[in-house]
Parts: sequence; structure tokens; C-alpha cells
Amino acid sequence: MPKQTVRDIDVTGKKVLVRVDFNVPQTADGKVADDRRIRGALPTLTSILQRGGSLILVSHLGRPTGDPAADAPFRLDPVAARLQELIERPVLKVRDTVGPEAQAACAALKPGGIVMLENVRFNKGEKKGDPAFAVQLADLADCYVNDAFGTCHRDEASMVAVPEQFPAERRAIGFLVDKELEILDTLLRAPRHPYVAVMGGAKVSDKILVIENLLKKVDRLLVGGAMTYTFLKAQGLPIGSSRVEADKLDLARQVLDLAGEKLVLPIDHLVADQPRAGAQTKVVGRDEIPDGWFGMDIGPAAAAEYGAIIKQAGTVVWNGPMGMFEVEAFAAGTRSVAESLASSPAVTAVGGGESAEAVEKFGLADKVSHVSTGGGAFLEALEGKVFNALKVIPDR
Ligand code: ADP
Ligand code: MG
Repeated sequence: MPKQTVRDIDVTGKKVLVRVDFNVPQTADGKVADDRRIRGALPTLTSILQRGGSLILVSHLGRPTGDPAADAPFRLDPVAARLQELIERPVLKVRDTVGPEAQAACAALKPGGIVMLENVRFNKGEKKGDPAFAVQLADLADCYVNDAFGTCHRDEASMVAVPEQFPAERRAIGFLVDKELEILDTLLRAPRHPYVAVMGGAKVSDKILVIENLLKKVDRLLVGGAMTYTFLKAQGLPIGSSRVEADKLDLARQVLDLAGEKLVLPIDHLVADQPRAGAQTKVVGRDEIPDGWFGMDIGPAAAAEYGAIIKQAGTVVWNGPMGMFEVEAFAAGTRSVAESLASSPAVTAVGGGESAEAVEKFGLADKVSHVSTGGGAFLEALEGKVFNALKVIPDR
């Protein structure tokens, strides 16, 4: 069932507490390095402002320790500054979350105004889901909107206990969460076939629950990235010095048995004599990784095969780079798969931290149907989990 969205609630003259996920990467000097998550929340924020509501923004940033001196880099001032540029209105950043400064700023808020509270994880009650902290936070506002898709898999106070403080008609999801849920619904319940999953990245063990759930739904599962070598080793094939999870071979064998013909491993590999930039590289066949060499990317024949399958698909979901794309010499497979998604007529969704980064880096983010703003949340949703943060928002 679709959830009640910010469009469905009356925000005129109301103070709306919007839980956003502005947990953005930062540069060494503390500036916002990637503002995709901030831009992603703008439709929700402007919709509330245009209808005469005001905003109380709540986010976490990083993993503060609780020591105020050490936690200075986790303050939200740079995020508030970037939001102010993007939204073109003043954003009042306060230095506490539920303390006197926050209370005074929220009490003085007028329609069209924006207050950004301090990093919610500075408060111990946040992680613990503490009801007393939730009451303090909820008391600042009249309505609650969750537009923090990247945090929806967490049961922290601002995600679950805070919305529970508001009457049902004053709780909603924002447009970003709505869009993420809509694409997930396609991927999990209504995919157009052929349905193709492309899975890569670092470890089989991180992705095993996703693989198991998707295998029930997809027609093909194309494998790349370092997890390839765990599968190859499980089949008794040579992997040289490639990255492998030696303790996950049984698991890999179980997946191979379960998947049968659906699971496709790369028919060739790009190998290198060292796992870093400047290495000597060559392309070898499926079962030809030489001793001492490292599998760093899928090979060109595998990339071409995957591209052909992706272009004939009705739906494609991609998580996990095909190789160590951060090094240019090992980026071709990931780039090729990204280009195949970009030029496919299928519904194409990309999720995962590094996968999203890769698609952005290649300049193809606008050419796929959806790039998820959730790393862990996107994967857990693909595992089939239902989030408490969404259970507390009424159906439309
Ligand atoms: P995501 O964040 O998209 O879910 P992962 O975190 O699972 O993806 O994996 C991403 C990382 O996997 C990348 O940083 C990439 O360098 C690494 N990786 C992919 N293929 C290889 C490989 N063949 N050898 C070493 N590392 C790899
Ligand atoms: Mg990652």
C-alpha cells in the first residue's frame, strides 16, 4: 500500500519536523563533497514552504563519539550552508538538537522559515530510540515527515519513536522516500521481464540475503566484482591472488546450486600483477587466472555479454561495481555496465554506496531510471525487510 505523503497532510501554518538524511561525504576541510542527498530532499522541503509551512530539519552526520571536542567535524553547519545555497532561503542553524537554543528558534519560527537542528546523533537517546528524547524532539513541531530514505532501515528515535508522538493525520513520508518506495515496489513486486540483477562489489557475504531474495524473482543474475572469485574458487577454478572470502565457499556453493542457470559468471577477467594503479594488466579466460595475479575487473567479453543481456531486459537492478573502478585501469567493466544500463529501454535502478558513486562519476546518473540515495537501506529493502520507520507512517 502506498504511504501517506507530505502532499496528503495539511501543513499550512504548521511547523513540520522533517527527518532528512543529510549524512553526506565531506572534503578534508569540512565542505560538502556530494550534495545528492540534499538535492534529493528539496521537492519535499519546497512543497511545505510553498504551502505556508515552516521547516525544522533533523539529520545525523557520520558517527559522532559523544566527546564534544572530537565531534566538531560532525556538526551540521556546512550542510546547512549548502542547503541555504540550494534552497535560496535563510537556514537558521542552531547548536543543539532539543536544548534551549533549538526550542527558542523553533518557537520563533514563522511560515516559510527554516531551522536546522544540530546532529541528532549528538544525543544518546537517538541511537537508543529513547522515548523521552523522542517527546522532546516531537514537542518542537506540529507534523512529522520522513524523507530520510538512507536511514529508514534504522530504528533510531527520530525515525520511529518521534513519528509515534504525532497523530496519524500528521505523519507522512516525503517525496524522496515515496520515489524510492515506488521503484522498490517495481523491483520486488511488479518487475517487467526479462528481469536482470547485476551484482558485484566487495563481498558475497554482504550481499547474500539480497542474492537469495532476488534469485526468486529475476531471470538472470550477472556477477562481477570481487565476489566473482569466491564463486570461482567454490567451483574449484583458479583465482590466483584475487580477493576471496575463503570462509564463504560453502555459502557460495549453496548459492550456485540454488541459482542454477540463472547465475552468470564473467567469461573473462582483467587481471593485474598488483592490485593497484600502475600495475601490468592482461585479459584472461574464465578459468585462466594465473598464479600470483589479481582479478581486478570483468573482462571485455563478459562486459559485452552483460551489455547484450541488459539491453534486452524489461527491468534491471544493479548493486556493486564490476571491479576496483576507483583505479582507472580497472574501471572499464563498471563503466561498460553503467553505459549499458544508461542506454537500455528497461526500468533501471542502481543502489549501494560505491555503485551510486560509480554512476555519478561516469556522468550517467541522469540516464538511469533511479539512483537510490540509500546504501544499506536499499540493500535491506531488496532483502525483503519491512522497516519500522515506514510501519509508523499510515497508508494513503
Ligand atoms: P556498494 O557500496 O555499491 O554496495 P560494495 O561496498 O559491495 O559496493 O563494493 C565496492 C567496492 O568493491 C569498491 O570500492 C571496489 O573497489 C571493490 N571491488 C570491486 N571489485 C573488486 C576486485 N575485483 N578486487 C578488489 N576490490 C574490488
Ligand atoms: Mg560499499
